[in-house]
Amino acid sequence: MKEAQFYEKKDEQKIQCYLCSHRCLIPPGKVGVCGVRRNVDGILYSLVYGRTIADNVDPIEKKPLFHFQPGSRSFSIATVGCNFHCLHCQNFSISQVTKGEGEIVGKSLSPEQIVKLAKNYQCKSIAYTYTEPTIFLEYALDTARLAHEQGIKNVFVTNGYITPEALQSAYTAIDGANIDLKSFDEKQHQKLCGAKLQPVLESIQLYHELGVWVEVTTLVIPHHNDSEEELTKIAQFIVAIDPGIPWHVTQFYPTYKLTNEPRTPIETLQKVRDIGKKAGLRYVYTGNIPGDEGENTYCYKCGKLLIQRMGYLIQANHIIDDSLCPSCGAEIDGVNLT
Ligand code: SF4
Repeated sequence: MKEAQFYEKKDEQKIQCYLCSHRCLIPPGKVGVCGVRRNVDGILYSLVYGRTIADNVDPIEKKPLFHFQPGSRSFSIATVGCNFHCLHCQNFSISQVTKGEGEIVGKSLSPEQIVKLAKNYQCKSIAYTYTEPTIFLEYALDTARLAHEQGIKNVFVTNGYITPEALQSAYTAIDGANIDLKSFDEKQHQKLCGAKLQPVLESIQLYHELGVWVEVTTLVIPHHNDSEEELTKIAQFIVAIDPGIPWHVTQFYPTYKLTNEPRTPIETLQKVRDIGKKAGLRYVYTGNIPGDEGENTYCYKCGKLLIQRMGYLIQANHIIDDSLCPSCGAEIDGVNLT
């Protein structure tokens, strides 16, 4: 156990954790909503520091991050636990394992060892992913700072529920983030994941303001968030922050507690892509349908095909000089695009 950051002591040895927007008030002996931060005699401990439940070498496209060092490898890690309880979680076996204060499982891996592995596998970044990196922030930050010393970047794949205070203290270690925006309807958002919508919207804005490269993902779920009105609102929200933020609209498949809804029809995703483009977004990608035209990057000015993809694989990258369209010279948004 490692003493946590981002908490305040309250009366009667209670603790207020302000790492995420649940802002749990935790009595002695108890854990917060995420199940991995425990109040022991008035001190808050991270139960997952140094305990990795998953470590893999992934293409950065799998995060998905399409405008961040495309075609590179990202050493991807997670601990158990999550501050959301999504009905459709694809990684519920590791994210929800702590529900009911279950056992903290994972192998021992220090920040130094993670950075060494990332280097050995020639990864250009470390991704904090699969579960929610916010809930293992102390571990992620110690790793991320060491990674920077070695010229390795850091990306968060996150639900965006980090508090502004925690993000202000962490952002210099984070180079890129893919943030999930699960719904634009407060009730639906709470129903899907057990958390409020507004903090997520604010953190998308703040990540961007702080200079972290941001991409947004919306899993389009039939009968839950697939109305034209709602998806238009999401697109307009992103455009208002920056039309250069890529939006990934991905296909749902029945899983975990949401098995009574069908897969998202491909035509729906293609329609959502049009909604995004009509709203003014420069880059809208369809996800989970390998071979779809919506996986490619096109120049937002002249329409030239710039990056051709098949699933997570880059088949061709025509961008020149780090960020330029070879046809019209438009500056393509992103980080180290060639
Ligand atoms: S990080 Fe965990 S303990 Fe802290 S506020 Fe969020 S859910 Fe609660």
